[in-house]
Amino acid sequence: MSEWKIRFGTAGTSDSFTAMGYKNSLDIPAYTEKMGLDAFEYQCGHGVRLGLDKARQMADDAAARGILFSVHAPYYISASSLDEEKRLNSVNYLLQSAALCRALGGRRVIFHSGSCGRQAGKLPWKKRWTP
Ligand SMILES: [Zn+2]
Repeated sequence: MSEWKIRFGTAGTSDSFTAMGYKNSLDIPAYTEKMGLDAFEYQCGHGVRLGLDKARQMADDAAARGILFSVHAPYYISASSLDEEKRLNSVNYLLQSAALCRALGGRRVIFHSGSCGRQAGKLPWKKRWTP
């Protein structure tokens, strides 16, 4: 029988973060531990703006506290946009998110793929990216 490995954490911080005296991203592992949680979803909904060096520092601190990061990729990802540039940019946003997640020591990136909308039956993303 396999062992359940369920983690609980928040997606981003709330007002309690500053109310508890924490100031920046480096404080997230301490904040998460203080809340009695063991996971944290780092929010990049408006862009991947956290530096990788800072992320590595956070990963070390989080690991020491038994906390695991995940990353929420930008909201403007659209894997099925009719605009090729938007699709190509979406790949970059995902890669940036994956690089950040790796630096944070995480293993999961959460993203909203976008819908096919009017393009029933067409899969431009697959067409473009399947070798
Ligand atoms: Zn989401």
